[in-house]
Amino acid sequence: MSDDCIFCSIVAGEIPSRTVYEDDDVSAFLDANPLAPGHTLVIPKAHHEHVQDVPNDLASDVFSVMHRLVEPAESAVDADGSTVAFNNGEAAGQEVPHVHGHIVPRFDDDGGGPIHSIFGARPDLDDDELDDIAASVSDGADD
Ligand code: AMP
Ligand code: ZN
Repeated sequence: MSDDCIFCSIVAGEIPSRTVYEDDDVSAFLDANPLAPGHTLVIPKAHHEHVQDVPNDLASDVFSVMHRLVEPAESAVDADGSTVAFNNGEAAGQEVPHVHGHIVPRFDDDGGGPIHSIFGARPDLDDDELDDIAASVSDGADD
């Protein structure tokens, strides 16, 4: 548990939440300032800031709970789909420094865009740059 972490406080029962799922390692609750009805957050109970900080087994558990909750979150509000995403790091808009996955129900007429709409102009990368990036990511995945 981290002091001054609002999600750790929720896990500890110190502040209220509309919890929709809980087990020994993972908790899920409604977002207090929802982007859509049914907006749900899924967190590891242990405090980790970024996706890459979460141990493998726990990361699997978090994804498993997200997988389990997508259909009920959509059905609860009769949604047509959902955006399932992590804001990972301040640069990506992460405001709460305790890793959390968003399940945001989506509707045909909600006026929101795809995740692609977050970004502006796309980078113009030549083949050498793409090869270098691919090699670097691939090497990192082997570590
Ligand atoms: P992010 O920008 O990815 O860090 O998202 C943080 C999310 O946490 C926002 O959607 C907030 O509305 C939500 N949030 C902040 N405080 C609480 C809280 N006490 N209970 C539930 N959701 C919260
Ligand atoms: Zn925390």
